Amino acid sequence: MFRTHTSIVNIAKNNLLNINKKMVHNKVTIIGSGPAAHTAGIYLGRAEIKPLVMFEGMMANGIAAGGQLTTTTEIENFPGFPEGMTGSELMDLMKKQNEKFGCEIITETISQVDLSSRPFKIWKEWCEDEEPILSDAIILATGASAKRLNLPGEEKYWQKGISACAVCDGAIPMFRNKPLAVIGGGDSACEEANFLTKYASKVYLIVRKDHLRASTIMQKRVEKNEKIEILYNHNPVEALGDSKFLTHLKVLQNTENKEYELPVNGLFYAIGHKPATDIVKGQVDLDETGYVKTVPGTSKTSVEGVFAAGDVQDSKYRQAITSAGSGCMAALDAEQFLSQFE
Ligand code: FAD
Ligand code: NAP
Repeated sequence: MFRTHTSIVNIAKNNLLNINKKMVHNKVTIIGSGPAAHTAGIYLGRAEIKPLVMFEGMMANGIAAGGQLTTTTEIENFPGFPEGMTGSELMDLMKKQNEKFGCEIITETISQVDLSSRPFKIWKEWCEDEEPILSDAIILATGASAKRLNLPGEEKYWQKGISACAVCDGAIPMFRNKPLAVIGGGDSACEEANFLTKYASKVYLIVRKDHLRASTIMQKRVEKNEKIEILYNHNPVEALGDSKFLTHLKVLQNTENKEYELPVNGLFYAIGHKPATDIVKGQVDLDETGYVKTVPGTSKTSVEGVFAAGDVQDSKYRQAITSAGSGCMAALDAEQFLSQFE
């Protein structure tokens, strides 16, 4: 059957309509789901920025939607909750507050972005062959994850003596007046060892080389602290304990090749973090450790219209409250950026 000119035009129109139907175009897309992402969503929702969409991830980087706080128990240092609450409860509340002001939250992971021109293009995991989602601005709040050692026994005693955040967990009763160990030789390890001496009976700082990598001032602080014993040339080998909690760490003195057990009730990893920046690598300026570089005092990245908030751009503070604060900054920066096109 031959098609008339009109029917061909109609088919073309319909195809175009279908393509347009598939092309979702957001004003702001938030990628991530921790305190930074939800705070940005709350601010933008209240500012009536629409369409406003958050991709909260589906086990992105191995962490549930809600981010790092979903991996811990009690949060005692987030202002406004004097009795404390679990990390998951806090994140559920943030999500609820974000939805209340109109942010659409989608439980999918973003696997690819094209930031070479605006509107930016965004693809969901498993949907890389489909039409991209378009967005006038992006807030990157994908967070970071603490590096782990994957020692034998680590899984069993994770959060039952083993932690990757001394500031977060150090003050809990199970660590009070007990011997603890910190692994690492950088500024974080020194800072965490010093911090833990407020609560611990003793802190072993376990360093794999014969020297610390930390800055001179931090080195001096740990060397001067009588509660800290630095074990140079030591590697952690195995986490040991009873049916519930960690009680010992097997270590290797690596110059003499001698293994022994250190009695410790807490083990804190301070061997660095990995920021979740793979999706923007090569498109946004990153520092030498992979964190997104922002213009100091702002959330602006090297790409106009792309803003970064939370741990993905913060190698220093890495706290829920600082992440939330930077999420607020990103929302206000994004709002100001969009206002120039009104
Ligand atoms: P994150 O919490 O890092 O969350 C980002 C999330 O975004 C990811 O986890 C993932 O779910 C999602 N995501 C990542 N990539 C993508 C993608 N491509 N697409 C879609 N989604 C994606 N801080 C405190 O202030 N107090 C505490 O008591 C405390 N306890 C802690 C205990 C532990 C065990 C840990 C690990 C951290 C703790 N912290 C604590 C630190 C705090 O959790 C972080 O500073 C904070 O969560 C960082 O928030 P964020 O918004 O940057 O994102
Ligand atoms: P870092 O500088 O990368 O140090 C990581 C430490 O962990 C190093 O000593 C490293 O050992 C050790 N390590 C890594 N993998 C290990 C493994 N598998 N087994 C045993 N040890 C291992 O990380 P950071 O201390 O988190 O610091 C990150 C950045 O933040 C730095 O720029 C730091 O200056 C900054 N920071 C600053 C402050 C401050 O100024 N107050 C506080 C915290 C962090 P090697 O040395 O042998 O490689």
